[in-house]
Amino acid sequence: MSRIGFIGLGIMGSPMASHLVKAGHEVTGYTLNTEAYERLSADGGKTAASIAEAVADAEIVITMLPNHPQVEKVVLGEDGVFAHAPAGALLIDFSTIRPESSIAIAETGARAGYRVLDAPVSGGQAGAEQGVLSIMVGGDDADFAAATPIFEAVGKTFIHVGPHGAGQVVKAANQLVVGGTYALVAEAIVLMEALGVDAGKGLDVLAGGLAGSRILELKRTSMVAREFAPGFRIDLHHKDMGIVSDAARQAEVALPVSGLVASLIAAGRAQGYGSLDHSALLKVIENLNGRGA
Ligand code: NAD
Repeated sequence: MSRIGFIGLGIMGSPMASHLVKAGHEVTGYTLNTEAYERLSADGGKTAASIAEAVADAEIVITMLPNHPQVEKVVLGEDGVFAHAPAGALLIDFSTIRPESSIAIAETGARAGYRVLDAPVSGGQAGAEQGVLSIMVGGDDADFAAATPIFEAVGKTFIHVGPHGAGQVVKAANQLVVGGTYALVAEAIVLMEALGVDAGKGLDVLAGGLAGSRILELKRTSMVAREFAPGFRIDLHHKDMGIVSDAARQAEVALPVSGLVASLIAAGRAQGYGSLDHSALLKVIENLNGRGA
């Protein structure tokens, strides 16, 4: 069992920290949304007043933050993780950020005596609450092996996909598939409803056939009911589609469908849905068709 400093107790980080406490780890949390401390304390974790305090005696430091500026500030900043964690500590960054930031953090960490893994996750809020996330890990073999008890506590599928940054590349691929699936489910709902067919019943059938997916399993009822509380915010998916398009440009590959999905998600943000769940892509498709509420 490890002493863990956990930074970023949001929609994902909060349940993940609780799973680690329940697995027997000693978890000290630090976050900006201090209302999250109630749950961590109730579950038996500790809370800290600063990053320095959270990581002071940590063997493992975990970050679960929105994007690369936050991760870079928290990890590399003057009052950050690398300024205060004990030498040799292992940083597991579960955030979704651009691969080049993960690589730069790992290189800076290595020079300062820290081990680093990029370990973005998939499975959404439900996956985090249930401790069944899919985790795509970039970094060294020995560090992946050392992190296995952590991955076991929060995830079901965890795979070492390559060197530093590779986890983020796989996560970018994940996000284009998820975004594209939501866009098509939204179109399916609009089509069925426009022709007077019960979309709820229709999607029940789709979920059991070749069109079935985890998204249909988890989200079809809330989408048909137009319930869009996050979940995973459109703003964050917009950030992820930026990572996809930068990666595609860098790799000199054309991803036309991803480009279209990125535009639909950008439209959702422009239409004021940034803080809604990404299933609110349905509203974008409805608006395109003059069928919005
Ligand atoms: P969130 O906004 O709910 O949580 C982010 C947390 O970071 C907040 O608790 C905030 O207080 C904290 N934070 C921000 N800056 C900080 C700082 N300087 N110091 C300390 N804490 C700070 O976001 P989330 O939905 O939990 O997502 C976190 C990451 O996981 C993102 O990269 C996201 O893309 C990824 N992700 C989210 C989901 C999902 O379904 N929500 C699924 C997979 C991956």
